[in-house]
Amino acid sequence: MTHDQLDSTALARFIAPPKMRSSVYKCPNHLGCTIGYHGDDVEVPDGMPAVCSECGSPLKPAKRPSGKLGAYLVNLFSVACIAAGLWLAWPGMVKLWKRYVSPGAIPVLPGK
Ligand SMILES: [Zn+2]
Repeated sequence: MTHDQLDSTALARFIAPPKMRSSVYKCPNHLGCTIGYHGDDVEVPDGMPAVCSECGSPLKPAKRPSGKLGAYLVNLFSVACIAAGLWLAWPGMVKLWKRYVSPGAIPVLPGK
């Protein structure tokens, strides 16, 4: 059963790639269309006609306001995490290195 599920998800991923190229549009019909009235984003896969699914009027391309900024912040956060991890781990690493390098740190067996 689990093996079949694994196979089907792998197959679904093969058929439908997770990142399909698409563009975001907005419907300019603010009066006769609820999508245009609410200002909702309409995602249209590349190669498809950019036409509103509700009123049928041609869509206007919209900008994604938060996408790049969000990715930038995530990058910044991960870099900060790595830097903080190095900063915290550094004294321990230096201690380990000194123990490894200096011969005095190696315990000498007495009486032989
Ligand atoms: Zn519309």
